Amino acid sequence: MVDSIFEKRGLLEDIYKQIDETAKLLNLSKNTIAKLKSPERAVVVSCPVEMENGEVRVFTGFRVQYNGSRGPYKGGIRYHPDVTLEEMIAMAALMTWKCAVVNIPFGGAKGGIACNPLEMTRKELMRLTRRYTEMIRPIIGPEKDIPAPDLNTNEDVMAWIMDTYSMVNQYTVPGIVTGKPKCIGGSEGRKEATGRGVAIITREISNMFFGKPVEVAIQGFGNVGSVAAKVLSDFGFKIVAVSDYYGGVYSADGLNIDELLSHVEKEGTVSTYPKGDKISNKELLELDVNLLIPAAVESVINSENADDVKAKVVVEAANAPITYEADRILNERGITVVPDILANAGGVVVSYFEWVQGLERYFWKADRVFRELEDIMISSLHEVLSVSKDKEVDMRKAAMMLALKRVAEAHEARGLWPQ
Ligand code: NAD
Repeated sequence: MVDSIFEKRGLLEDIYKQIDETAKLLNLSKNTIAKLKSPERAVVVSCPVEMENGEVRVFTGFRVQYNGSRGPYKGGIRYHPDVTLEEMIAMAALMTWKCAVVNIPFGGAKGGIACNPLEMTRKELMRLTRRYTEMIRPIIGPEKDIPAPDLNTNEDVMAWIMDTYSMVNQYTVPGIVTGKPKCIGGSEGRKEATGRGVAIITREISNMFFGKPVEVAIQGFGNVGSVAAKVLSDFGFKIVAVSDYYGGVYSADGLNIDELLSHVEKEGTVSTYPKGDKISNKELLELDVNLLIPAAVESVINSENADDVKAKVVVEAANAPITYEADRILNERGITVVPDILANAGGVVVSYFEWVQGLERYFWKADRVFRELEDIMISSLHEVLSVSKDKEVDMRKAAMMLALKRVAEAHEARGLWPQ
């Protein structure tokens, strides 16, 4: 399907290169590879919305269900002007691998709407969300496909999706989305889950490489970066630099993360924090530190700056922050990369817990959520490291091998229908 219909560029091109590479290492059959390279369903919808000024604007939305061999499709919904079908396919594939690496019983999906939420009112966003939900309703459901927040969507958007779906069904369906407000069935710890998972993986890797907590630079101070910074500093790590869209701040003695969090709450950015030196995003990525955590946007480490990265270990907290070519360069230079599908899987793990709680109508305390999250993150890391050692491949290839093997096994066990 993909080979003939969709244009393979950017991230999607990288995804297909990784599938080919991994399939070779796993010696997968031609038939299985063809299955792994084809998104199972891609829906494009148009969503007319009456704006506050009376004008009707028609937005284009997507939902891609990449692979459901291991369970219901799972993946976020993003609102961004650059959303395209190709990007959704790539992200849905990543979600499939991510769920498989941490061995939770979900397939992978992704959705989005091409819009600029920064220029829309809350009412317009709610109307758009409700119309989009209605348009994709035939293919979503608590046993079919469970959306979650992603770029520019949050718990309010999830509440509107849940309400729209529930109103049309005429009963409350908490399992239709994850990442919703706690008052309607959201899980304890969901908001912090990705950043906490990143911190847990970073702590384990740091113990293995350096035997102790070391200094860290973090790009991005949003949901993921700020929580990772806080938990790592509680673990005893020295956070020497952080940045956001507007720039960053550096202090060789380590930044006070609690103070920084209060500063960001008031000022909206880390770049004006006075107790440190100003630093650009480019400089942050090139700092001479043991650990670097890109936690902002994709492709920030690319063929132009990969040679300038000095960190010994890079933990991918963002999705796809390192391009395929840059990954090759870092590898050649002996820099260890902990791949996104493992490092940032904490969010989908706690989404899984939220879905289970919604189906059972029985809610867990925060300490149970965090304990079970930690168990899954650590055991998944060790599984990846063990494949990496046995097969003598880097951690990204090892994680891909583990993921694709699990998806391929599920696909082969189920067979084809109709026969
Ligand atoms: P967010 O919007 O809360 O924060 C993003 C941060 O990155 C902000 O501090 C922003 O200022 C900064 N930023 C944006 N553009 C930048 C740029 N060009 N250069 C430097 N900094 C920039 O987003 P988030 O939820 O923290 O997600 C961050 C990354 O993690 C994304 O790649 C996302 O896909 C990925 N991710 C998030 C989750 C989750 O649960 N939130 C789960 C898995 C992966």
